[in-house]
Amino acid sequence: TVRVRMAPSPTGSPHVGLVRTALFNWAFARHHGGTFVFRIEDTDRERSTQESYDAIIDLMRWLGLDWDEGPEVGGPHAPYFQSERGDLYRDALERLAASSYTYDCFCTNEEVDARRKDSGSKVMGYDGFCRELSAEQRAAFEAEGRKPVVRFRMPDGSITWHDLVRGEVTFETRFVPDYALCRANGDPLYTLVNPVDDAYMEITHVLRGEDLLSSTPRQLALYDALVELGIAKQTPEFGHLPYVMGEGNKKLSKRDPEAHALAYREQGFLPEGLLNYLALLGWAIAADRDVFSMEEMVAAFDIADVNPNPARFDIKKAEAINASHMRLLSLDEMTDRVLPYLKSAGVVSDPVTDADARLLELAMPLVAERINKLTESVDMLGFLFVSEDDFVVDPADAEKFLDDDGRAVVRRALERLSGLDEWSSAAIQEALQAELVEAMGLKPRNAFGPVRVAISGRRVSPPLFESMELLGRDRSLARLQSALG
Ligand code: GLU
Repeated sequence: TVRVRMAPSPTGSPHVGLVRTALFNWAFARHHGGTFVFRIEDTDRERSTQESYDAIIDLMRWLGLDWDEGPEVGGPHAPYFQSERGDLYRDALERLAASSYTYDCFCTNEEVDARRKDSGSKVMGYDGFCRELSAEQRAAFEAEGRKPVVRFRMPDGSITWHDLVRGEVTFETRFVPDYALCRANGDPLYTLVNPVDDAYMEITHVLRGEDLLSSTPRQLALYDALVELGIAKQTPEFGHLPYVMGEGNKKLSKRDPEAHALAYREQGFLPEGLLNYLALLGWAIAADRDVFSMEEMVAAFDIADVNPNPARFDIKKAEAINASHMRLLSLDEMTDRVLPYLKSAGVVSDPVTDADARLLELAMPLVAERINKLTESVDMLGFLFVSEDDFVVDPADAEKFLDDDGRAVVRRALERLSGLDEWSSAAIQEALQAELVEAMGLKPRNAFGPVRVAISGRRVSPPLFESMELLGRDRSLARLQSALG
């Protein structure tokens, strides 16, 4: 059975690369009816924060990427926080040392650098100096008060694996130096805890970013030892997901504003829109199809179809994909989705009043086809809910549309509409068409632009006549009046 994991370090604001990795692991697990494990790699205590942890959980919940084992849900391999698994790492270290898979190293970085210079070696990293220390050498280092780090003894030769994304990958181990598994103070390092956790959690497939490719030969060598020692049942298969490139063809980094995953929720993306877009960073459901649901992705996902070439992050495309998902929502769903945004912007109160709920139900059909992100509902609908005292016209739009000519148009509209018997969108349209377009001879843009700005406060609004009907006679006339200054 398939067991995959995501293993974020709770440092900083979660990145879209993390979501892409989580999504591919999740889709792989769900496709194979496997288990999606979530664990928190908080070995680096200084850099790990509660805030970052909360943000990751929040993000996963918002996205609907549910996990089968991990924080908050528990599971047979608990705890799922590395900071609580110290005994397991110490035990693994002892067993590795007892079988000579590791050795104590007393060298300082300066000593290693100096030896590299002297020998003219081009190979970076540790040179194996302490591999075969005699008892006297060891005693001499200890007498100096040096504390050792523990290094893994890399085997000779080469390490080859069949990468699930990239095919066969080979590293010559002379370019993969013996590496440290823990600090001199005994704190275990990522190099140890990540494979040890994968072993105990019986992970079968490791799908992760290409940035970790160079650590894979080290981890595979350690895995062989863990299998020998009976700590691991089997070595997992590895697949490295392509780099995500941002502006200027540089790797998308934390400094790029579009890298921050939670910003998409703030901007009003649908989670399914963001996930659909991130799926395209390395995968395609079909050559001629970009828009799909997560159910469809799960059904179709095959790791062998992931493209190893770097993927380009394109915010315009992300927005277009999101817009397509907006079009798929029913009016009720759209209403449910925009409500939190309308509440937090103060457009409606929380809980929403019955009157506002009714107004929203009537207004939703006017905007549903026009908004590409949930937040756009705030600007589009705000004018219907705002009190006349708080209503303001966008200053730039006022300048453009409510100049002398514009106000003349609004005055005529006001005069004509004041005498209107029936306040319906059809009657309003008919009256304004007759008055402004036919009698005044204006082009529709010049006729309705000023009225639209006076009524909605903005040049972009839901359909004007329907909006005026919803706003009602008194409030519509009051806004036309106040536009006259
Ligand atoms: N904690 C590691 C990271 O954030 C996970 C590495 C892995 O997936 O193996 O990059």
